[in-house]
Amino acid sequence: MNILALITLFLLQKDMLMTNRFSAALAALLLTGSALMAQSKKPIDAIKADDIKKDLYYLADDHFRGREAGTLDELKASVWLAEQARKAGLEPAGDDGTYFQFFSLIRERVSNNSTISIGNRSFHLWQDAIVYEPGFASVDAPIVFINDADTVSAATIKGKVVALQFSAKGINDPRVQVPTRYAGIVVNYWAKYLASKGAVAIIFVGDELAQKGWGKATQYNNRGSYQIEGSLFHRQLLTGVPIIWLQQDALPLVQQPGQQLKAHIFSESFTYPSVNVVAKVKGSDPKLAGEYVVFSGHQDHDGVRNVPGVADSIYNGADDNASVSVALLAIGRAFRRQPGKRSTLFIWHGSEERGLFGSTWFADHPTVPRESLVAVLNADMIGNNAPDSAALLGLIPPHLSSSALAKIGLEENRKGPGFKLDTAWDKATHPEVWYFRSDHYPYAKKNIPVLYFSSLPHALYHTPGDEAATINIEKLTKIARWMYATGFTVSNLAERPAMEPGFQLER
Ligand SMILES: [Zn+2]
Repeated sequence: MNILALITLFLLQKDMLMTNRFSAALAALLLTGSALMAQSKKPIDAIKADDIKKDLYYLADDHFRGREAGTLDELKASVWLAEQARKAGLEPAGDDGTYFQFFSLIRERVSNNSTISIGNRSFHLWQDAIVYEPGFASVDAPIVFINDADTVSAATIKGKVVALQFSAKGINDPRVQVPTRYAGIVVNYWAKYLASKGAVAIIFVGDELAQKGWGKATQYNNRGSYQIEGSLFHRQLLTGVPIIWLQQDALPLVQQPGQQLKAHIFSESFTYPSVNVVAKVKGSDPKLAGEYVVFSGHQDHDGVRNVPGVADSIYNGADDNASVSVALLAIGRAFRRQPGKRSTLFIWHGSEERGLFGSTWFADHPTVPRESLVAVLNADMIGNNAPDSAALLGLIPPHLSSSALAKIGLEENRKGPGFKLDTAWDKATHPEVWYFRSDHYPYAKKNIPVLYFSSLPHALYHTPGDEAATINIEKLTKIARWMYATGFTVSNLAERPAMEPGFQLER
């Protein structure tokens, strides 16, 4: 019998011993002894690759249909996670004694009833026309085709519909060459400018590069945009006038002199429920149990999307972020076996993919006092890329929220998995602004120390190919143990990790 098994048996007996005062005193004495023993050897073996694998294959299975925020699929996945948390012995820590914290997700999109025609050709929305932003507009105005947007005069386009072809000319952003980014970047670059010159609608006509991003763009824009009360990312209308993307074959038509655009654009909005799953393990120290070390991830992903030319329609998000969701369950089991002095809070955020909404909501409406959150250890995608490397973000100013916390994260990597740590993605100059794209961000905004564990994006990122079979279970288990060890150390510190003086994120 090894020491861990001994402690487990002992804890099982604890309830039986609590039958009279003498036994309680004896139990307390013995527990102190076992806690001291366990202190030096935390039950990191409670985090098992087999459990992680089993949970991952279940959560990333097609039966959850990609866990899209605001749908029944996200709710079903949330119920499953709460049930696993309950089975692991974690206590509910959501609203009103439940495992759940619900919030409302507002979706706005361009209505399919919108109509667009030029001359006697009607364009079918999402098949041969994309309308960029929700809004209401009626346009009946002549089209002016322009070759050079930067030299166009207000006199030429005021009160008219301006049409132009997509072009990367003059745009410095290197991402403009990525097919799925190209059109959006060009629209962002030109639409405001052209609207400021008095255009009443703007038509962008596709070229070959834009065409490569068409399928994804129809999906994205048809879906519309999402917000919650308190959103950190405010969807701002670019222009207030309709922005329309037509495919390449419409070019001769918009170039013909004397053409007229008739468009009636309508929008619609929906309110959906979304949910955070919240559970806890109570700390062992009566003085520190009122403070929480938070383990954070998101349970939602991108749902079902029928992209033309792509056979698989379910975005299982095995890495993003079933990997972390199941790691949190494993970490919970380890804390359940031996709590830290502080309490631990486990939050499976909803609606991360739609704009970090679950974490924004929880940071605004925490179910425990906000001052009691001593650190947030967030992770997003921890099961892919090279087996020997990973990233820990929140180490490099201005992202460094707490040197004390950062030091522990690094030290636990050194003592444990020994990953080669990428530093590029943590830099304020990184074009992907990765630091701002996961659930620690709303907490950092509230001046709570954070760390962000990730194995970074890869070729399958946000594709239907992000499936359980592509996950490196061993690596996932190592990162789960590293997160656990970091949190365990923080939960037992005499003093909570201090915020970095003058901490100020660049956005
Ligand atoms: Zn994610």
